[in-house]
Amino acid sequence: MTETTYDVLIIGSGHAGGMAAKILTEKGIHCLMLNAGPVADVARDAQRKPAYELPYRGFKPPGRLEHVFQASEFNANVWVDEEEVPYTFDPSTPYNWVRVRLFGGRSLFWSRQSFRLSDYEFKGKSHDGFGEDWPISLSDLAPYYSRVEEIFQVEGAQDGPPQMPNGNFVPVNEVWSESMRRFITASQPYNMAVCKQRRALGRDGLASSVNLLLPDAERTGKLTSIANAVVRQITVDKNTGQPDGCLFVDRLSRREMHVKARVVVLAAGTLESTRLLLNSNLGNSSGMIGHYLMDQIYGPGVTCSVPEARNGNATEQLMGGGAIVPRFRNITTKYDKFLRGYALNVTSRMGAIEPRNFAAYGAELQQKLHEYNGSAFHVTVMGEVLGRYENHVRIDKEKVDAWNIPVLNIQTRYTDNEFNMAKDAVEVGCAVADAAGFEGLSKNDVPNPPGYSIHEVGTCRMGDDPKKSVLNKWCQSHDHKNLFVVDGASFVSAGWQNPTMTILALSMRASEYLAGEMSKQNV
Ligand SMILES: Cc1cc2nc3c(=O)[nH]c(=O)nc-3n(C[C@H](O)[C@H](O)[C@H](O)COP(=O)(O)OP(=O)(O)OC[C@H]3O[C@@H](n4cnc5c(N)ncnc54)[C@H](O)[C@@H]3O)c2cc1C
Repeated sequence: MTETTYDVLIIGSGHAGGMAAKILTEKGIHCLMLNAGPVADVARDAQRKPAYELPYRGFKPPGRLEHVFQASEFNANVWVDEEEVPYTFDPSTPYNWVRVRLFGGRSLFWSRQSFRLSDYEFKGKSHDGFGEDWPISLSDLAPYYSRVEEIFQVEGAQDGPPQMPNGNFVPVNEVWSESMRRFITASQPYNMAVCKQRRALGRDGLASSVNLLLPDAERTGKLTSIANAVVRQITVDKNTGQPDGCLFVDRLSRREMHVKARVVVLAAGTLESTRLLLNSNLGNSSGMIGHYLMDQIYGPGVTCSVPEARNGNATEQLMGGGAIVPRFRNITTKYDKFLRGYALNVTSRMGAIEPRNFAAYGAELQQKLHEYNGSAFHVTVMGEVLGRYENHVRIDKEKVDAWNIPVLNIQTRYTDNEFNMAKDAVEVGCAVADAAGFEGLSKNDVPNPPGYSIHEVGTCRMGDDPKKSVLNKWCQSHDHKNLFVVDGASFVSAGWQNPTMTILALSMRASEYLAGEMSKQNV
């Protein structure tokens, strides 16, 4: 029997893979999508159980999800089990790798904050001399961002300064509450822009690959999808030296199979795509695969109370709403404590304040919780992590996962640039809240470990110079014209922005380029 050769093999079904499948199949290209995990059975998996029916009473099963801060026993089936697919790091520099292998990947669970990168990111080196510029600029990606924003129904206002480009938004009409207005007034000495939040509304409460992208691909009749297919290695044609498919293992039966394709598109999520390339020993003539791992610092922030909202006096006029303060350091002036900058997420909330914000116990704590209820004001930080060669991943030769596939060793740490940024953000947050008349309850200026933001990017960066980069500006391997990486691995800098809008826009752009090259028989 002859083996079917697909036009394009897409590995991964999240935002990146879903977009590639939609674009390519709509151009008439026959795609095979392999995904390591199962299709979620919502009726079964989302059943609620009382804590007393669970072996760990709702706490995390020990050892299996240690680095997934969102995990509890109630949602343990969502995340990748760290015993099944381990990764290694030096215990003194831990990494929080948060993974989902269900069909749809992390698009099923993301928080949907949606921003474009600006030329302060794309052309960062030209602005401040650090790192490398991307080989593209905002004007190259803007038309794709607009189409992605349309598909994902991104809600926002056209209120961004140049460092937070405006887009194709569902207008947000909400007026600021009084506590937000007080924050805005108090922020003026810092030259901050306090803007409306930008969030993907999606459809029916979901902004995922499985409801916004894959149905379009399936409608074309050109998509074949296989769940529970754990890709082990990209294979190479012995005669041409070019990628020609992959070896994958059935997750349940452990049977190994081979599939053939003219083109391979990696969309397994930044670090899994990189792991696959390293395990396949492919596309690395630059030696750059695995290097320049980046994300954003998360964790630092300030929790305050709006005094007038205490003792049951919170109203919708006084409390509520959220804002984003885009990076304001190192835009028109140069700040001496760090390069690049951070954004602030600002939230005014009518709900309860968490007990950990009070240095009190027992009856005194109860009384405080009651008194302060409805008066919470939070300022949290998203700070750019610089791209450094030494922050890298490589294959751990000593350890394999449940399917005998070598795992990643992750070596990354924050530097004074990130720590100084966190301190500055918290000082500024406290000063503005104080000037607004809010009472500071708690603050933290120490970032959580790298990876915690779930915004890992880099490790196969794009560039014009094949000696310094892995991919060209179309997310295409410099070494193999039929190999593409369309997830966050191609990022050259992280920016302060959540990455998913950019991943989607890059995947769309790369897929249209690929379709064009295939129709011209160049690939
Ligand atoms: C709780 C949470 C909140 C977030 N909030 C935001 C936010 O507000 N804004 C934002 O921009 N981003 C946010 N993110 C990040 C966002 O979800 C990711 O940037 C984005 O989903 C990445 O998409 P992806 O397709 O590249 O990767 P993934 O979604 O990780 O998909 C990769 C897919 O590849 C598959 N795969 C992996 N390895 C293999 C293999 N060997 N063989 C076959 N298949 C494989 C996996 O099964 C998976 O389905 C959040 C993430 C989480 C978890």
